[in-house]
Amino acid sequence: SNSTMAEFDYLFKLLLIGDSGVGKSTLLLSFTSNTFEDLSPTIGVDFKVKHVTLGGKKLKLAIWDTAGQERFRTLTSSYYRGAQGIIMVYDVTRRDTFTNLSDIWAKEIDLYSTNQDCIKMLVGNKVDKESERVVSKKEGIDFAREYGCLYLECSAKTRVNVEQCFEELVLKILDTPSLLAEGSAGVKKNIFKEKPPQPDASTSGCCSW
Ligand code: GDP
Repeated sequence: SNSTMAEFDYLFKLLLIGDSGVGKSTLLLSFTSNTFEDLSPTIGVDFKVKHVTLGGKKLKLAIWDTAGQERFRTLTSSYYRGAQGIIMVYDVTRRDTFTNLSDIWAKEIDLYSTNQDCIKMLVGNKVDKESERVVSKKEGIDFAREYGCLYLECSAKTRVNVEQCFEELVLKILDTPSLLAEGSAGVKKNIFKEKPPQPDASTSGCCSW
Protein backbone atom coordinates (compact mmCIF):
# COMPACT_ATOMS: atom_id res chain seq x y z
CA SER A 1 0.00 0.00 0.00
CA ASN A 2 1.05 3.56 -0.66
CA SER A 3 1.76 5.35 2.61
CA THR A 4 1.39 8.79 1.04
CA MET A 5 -2.22 8.11 0.07
CA ALA A 6 -4.76 9.90 2.24
CA GLU A 7 -6.46 7.67 4.76
CA PHE A 8 -9.79 9.18 3.78
CA ASP A 9 -11.31 11.87 1.60
CA TYR A 10 -13.60 13.27 4.25
CA LEU A 11 -14.09 13.04 7.98
CA PHE A 12 -17.63 13.55 9.17
CA LYS A 13 -18.84 14.11 12.70
CA LEU A 14 -22.25 12.53 13.18
CA LEU A 15 -24.38 12.77 16.32
CA LEU A 16 -26.99 10.56 17.91
CA ILE A 17 -29.72 12.50 19.72
CA GLY A 18 -32.84 11.46 21.56
CA ASP A 19 -34.26 10.36 24.88
CA SER A 20 -32.61 7.78 27.08
CA GLY A 21 -33.62 4.22 26.17
CA VAL A 22 -34.63 4.80 22.54
CA GLY A 23 -31.72 2.67 21.34
CA LYS A 24 -28.96 5.11 20.36
CA SER A 25 -26.10 3.01 21.74
CA THR A 26 -27.53 -0.17 20.26
CA LEU A 27 -27.92 1.55 16.89
CA LEU A 28 -24.33 2.73 16.99
CA LEU A 29 -23.03 -0.68 18.02
CA SER A 30 -25.18 -2.37 15.40
CA PHE A 31 -23.72 -0.11 12.70
CA THR A 32 -20.11 -0.26 13.82
CA SER A 33 -19.71 -3.75 15.29
CA ASN A 34 -16.87 -5.87 13.93
CA THR A 35 -15.25 -2.87 12.37
CA PHE A 36 -15.19 -0.24 15.07
CA GLU A 37 -12.09 0.87 16.87
CA ASP A 38 -13.04 -0.11 20.38
CA LEU A 39 -13.06 3.06 22.42
CA SER A 40 -13.86 2.25 26.00
CA PRO A 41 -16.87 4.04 27.41
CA THR A 42 -16.30 6.52 30.20
CA ILE A 43 -17.95 9.54 31.74
CA GLY A 44 -19.02 12.11 29.23
CA VAL A 45 -19.41 12.01 25.49
CA ASP A 46 -17.79 9.23 23.54
CA PHE A 47 -17.67 8.26 19.91
CA LYS A 48 -16.96 5.35 17.63
CA VAL A 49 -15.15 5.50 14.34
CA LYS A 50 -16.10 3.67 11.18
CA HIS A 51 -14.49 3.79 7.76
CA VAL A 52 -16.80 3.40 4.78
CA THR A 53 -16.69 4.04 1.05
CA LEU A 54 -19.80 5.79 -0.21
CA GLY A 55 -20.50 7.83 -3.33
CA GLY A 56 -17.00 6.94 -4.53
CA LYS A 57 -15.41 8.64 -1.51
CA LYS A 58 -13.43 7.18 1.35
CA LEU A 59 -15.03 8.39 4.54
CA LYS A 60 -14.08 8.33 8.18
CA LEU A 61 -17.19 8.64 10.31
CA ALA A 62 -16.81 9.77 13.92
CA ILE A 63 -20.18 8.94 15.44
CA TRP A 64 -20.84 10.52 18.81
CA ASP A 65 -23.07 9.03 21.47
CA THR A 66 -24.17 10.88 24.58
CA ALA A 67 -22.97 8.37 27.19
CA GLY A 68 -26.13 8.93 29.22
CA GLN A 69 -25.95 12.72 29.42
CA GLU A 70 -29.19 12.97 27.43
CA ARG A 71 -31.03 11.95 30.59
CA PHE A 72 -30.91 15.60 31.56
CA ARG A 73 -32.36 16.40 28.12
CA THR A 74 -29.57 18.85 27.51
CA LEU A 75 -26.14 18.39 26.00
CA THR A 76 -23.23 20.80 25.88
CA SER A 77 -22.67 22.96 22.84
CA SER A 78 -19.36 21.11 22.35
CA TYR A 79 -21.29 17.96 21.55
CA TYR A 80 -22.99 19.69 18.62
CA ARG A 81 -20.03 21.73 17.37
CA GLY A 82 -18.88 20.93 13.86
CA ALA A 83 -21.34 18.12 13.22
CA GLN A 84 -22.26 17.52 9.59
CA GLY A 85 -25.08 15.10 10.40
CA ILE A 86 -27.51 14.44 13.24
CA ILE A 87 -29.56 11.29 13.75
CA MET A 88 -32.63 12.05 15.86
CA VAL A 89 -33.88 8.79 17.37
CA TYR A 90 -37.22 7.92 18.94
CA ASP A 91 -38.82 4.67 20.00
CA VAL A 92 -41.97 3.83 17.98
CA THR A 93 -43.40 2.16 21.11
CA ARG A 94 -43.03 5.28 23.33
CA ARG A 95 -44.88 8.42 22.30
CA ASP A 96 -43.03 10.68 24.76
CA THR A 97 -39.75 9.95 22.97
CA PHE A 98 -41.35 11.18 19.73
CA THR A 99 -42.91 14.36 21.13
CA ASN A 100 -39.71 15.21 23.01
CA LEU A 101 -37.87 15.36 19.68
CA SER A 102 -40.02 18.26 18.53
CA ASP A 103 -40.55 19.85 21.95
CA ILE A 104 -37.00 19.65 23.27
CA TRP A 105 -34.35 18.12 21.03
CA ALA A 106 -35.13 19.96 17.78
CA LYS A 107 -34.93 23.30 19.62
CA GLU A 108 -31.59 22.38 21.15
CA ILE A 109 -30.23 21.28 17.78
CA ASP A 110 -31.27 24.57 16.19
CA LEU A 111 -29.68 26.47 19.05
CA TYR A 112 -26.34 24.70 19.09
CA SER A 113 -25.54 23.20 15.70
CA THR A 114 -22.83 25.32 14.13
CA ASN A 115 -23.27 24.06 10.56
CA GLN A 116 -26.34 25.77 9.15
CA ASP A 117 -26.68 23.12 6.47
CA CYS A 118 -26.23 20.22 8.92
CA ILE A 119 -28.25 17.24 7.65
CA LYS A 120 -30.80 15.75 10.01
CA MET A 121 -32.29 12.27 9.89
CA LEU A 122 -35.34 11.30 11.93
CA VAL A 123 -35.24 7.62 12.92
CA GLY A 124 -38.08 5.63 14.44
CA ASN A 125 -36.40 2.68 16.15
CA LYS A 126 -37.67 -0.69 17.49
CA VAL A 127 -39.95 -1.56 14.57
CA ASP A 128 -39.45 -5.22 15.51
CA LYS A 129 -41.98 -4.50 18.30
CA GLU A 130 -44.74 -3.81 15.78
CA SER A 131 -47.51 -5.01 18.12
CA GLU A 132 -46.48 -2.37 20.68
CA ARG A 133 -46.22 0.48 18.18
CA VAL A 134 -47.92 3.73 19.22
CA VAL A 135 -46.33 6.21 16.78
CA SER A 136 -47.47 5.63 13.21
CA LYS A 137 -45.23 5.84 10.18
CA LYS A 138 -47.37 8.71 8.88
CA GLU A 139 -46.67 10.76 12.02
CA GLY A 140 -42.95 10.24 11.46
CA ILE A 141 -43.21 11.26 7.82
CA ASP A 142 -45.25 14.36 8.72
CA PHE A 143 -42.78 15.52 11.37
CA ALA A 144 -39.82 14.93 9.04
CA ARG A 145 -41.51 16.95 6.29
CA GLU A 146 -42.32 19.78 8.69
CA TYR A 147 -38.84 19.85 10.23
CA GLY A 148 -37.12 19.38 6.87
CA CYS A 149 -35.20 16.22 7.57
CA LEU A 150 -34.75 12.71 6.23
CA TYR A 151 -36.78 9.87 7.72
CA LEU A 152 -36.46 6.14 8.21
CA GLU A 153 -37.76 3.47 10.56
CA CYS A 154 -35.39 0.76 11.74
CA SER A 155 -34.61 -1.91 14.27
CA ALA A 156 -31.23 -1.74 15.94
CA LYS A 157 -31.99 -5.20 17.30
CA THR A 158 -32.68 -7.01 14.02
CA ARG A 159 -30.51 -4.55 12.03
CA VAL A 160 -33.32 -3.78 9.61
CA ASN A 161 -32.52 -0.43 7.94
CA VAL A 162 -29.59 0.34 10.27
CA GLU A 163 -27.02 0.76 7.48
CA GLN A 164 -29.54 2.76 5.46
CA CYS A 165 -29.94 5.33 8.26
CA PHE A 166 -26.26 6.17 8.20
CA GLU A 167 -25.84 5.81 4.44
CA GLU A 168 -28.73 8.07 3.44
CA LEU A 169 -27.49 10.69 5.89
CA VAL A 170 -23.92 10.51 4.60
CA LEU A 171 -24.97 10.59 0.93
CA LYS A 172 -26.95 13.78 1.61
CA ILE A 173 -23.91 15.29 3.36
CA LEU A 174 -21.77 14.39 0.32
CA ASP A 175 -24.35 16.24 -1.77
CA THR A 176 -24.01 19.43 0.29
CA PRO A 177 -20.91 21.45 -0.76
CA SER A 178 -20.78 23.67 2.34
CA LEU A 179 -20.49 20.60 4.58
CA LEU A 180 -17.68 19.11 2.51
CA ALA A 181 -15.53 22.17 3.11
CA GLU A 182 -15.98 21.70 6.85
CA GLY A 183 -15.36 17.97 6.77
CA SER A 184 -12.40 17.82 4.44
CA ALA A 185 -9.33 15.84 5.40
CA GLY A 186 -7.39 19.08 5.69
CA VAL A 187 -9.27 20.12 8.82
CA LYS A 188 -9.57 16.66 10.25
CA LYS A 189 -8.10 17.58 13.61
CA ASN A 190 -10.67 20.26 14.30
CA ILE A 191 -13.39 18.05 15.69
CA PHE A 192 -11.08 16.54 18.26
CA LYS A 193 -9.22 19.60 19.43
CA GLU A 194 -11.78 20.59 22.05
CA LYS A 195 -10.63 17.68 24.15
CA PRO A 196 -8.83 18.86 27.27
CA PRO A 197 -5.62 17.03 28.23
CA GLN A 198 -6.41 13.75 29.93
CA PRO A 199 -4.16 11.33 31.80
CA ASP A 200 -4.62 8.54 29.26
CA ALA A 201 -5.55 10.60 26.22
CA SER A 202 -3.54 8.32 23.94
CA THR A 203 -5.63 5.26 24.68
CA SER A 204 -9.00 6.87 25.28
CA GLY A 205 -11.31 7.94 22.52
CA CYS A 206 -13.60 9.73 24.88
CA CYS A 207 -14.09 13.34 25.56
CA SER A 208 -15.48 14.63 28.81
CA TRP A 209 -16.09 18.15 29.84
P1 GDP B 1 -29.99 4.62 24.55
O1 GDP B 1 -30.19 4.99 25.99
O2 GDP B 1 -30.77 5.50 23.64
O3 GDP B 1 -28.56 4.51 24.15
O4 GDP B 1 -30.66 3.16 24.36
P2 GDP B 1 -29.96 1.72 24.39
O5 GDP B 1 -29.21 1.49 23.12
O6 GDP B 1 -29.22 1.57 25.65
O7 GDP B 1 -31.26 0.77 24.35
C1 GDP B 1 -32.21 0.78 25.39
C2 GDP B 1 -32.89 -0.58 25.44
O8 GDP B 1 -33.65 -0.82 24.24
C3 GDP B 1 -31.91 -1.73 25.55
O9 GDP B 1 -32.46 -2.71 26.39
C4 GDP B 1 -31.81 -2.24 24.12
O10 GDP B 1 -31.47 -3.60 24.07
C5 GDP B 1 -33.21 -2.00 23.62
N1 GDP B 1 -33.26 -1.79 22.16
C6 GDP B 1 -32.49 -0.95 21.43
N2 GDP B 1 -32.83 -1.00 20.14
C7 GDP B 1 -33.84 -1.88 20.04
C8 GDP B 1 -34.63 -2.37 18.94
O11 GDP B 1 -34.50 -2.00 17.78
N3 GDP B 1 -35.61 -3.28 19.25
C9 GDP B 1 -35.81 -3.74 20.52
N4 GDP B 1 -36.78 -4.63 20.70
N5 GDP B 1 -35.09 -3.32 21.55
C10 GDP B 1 -34.12 -2.39 21.33
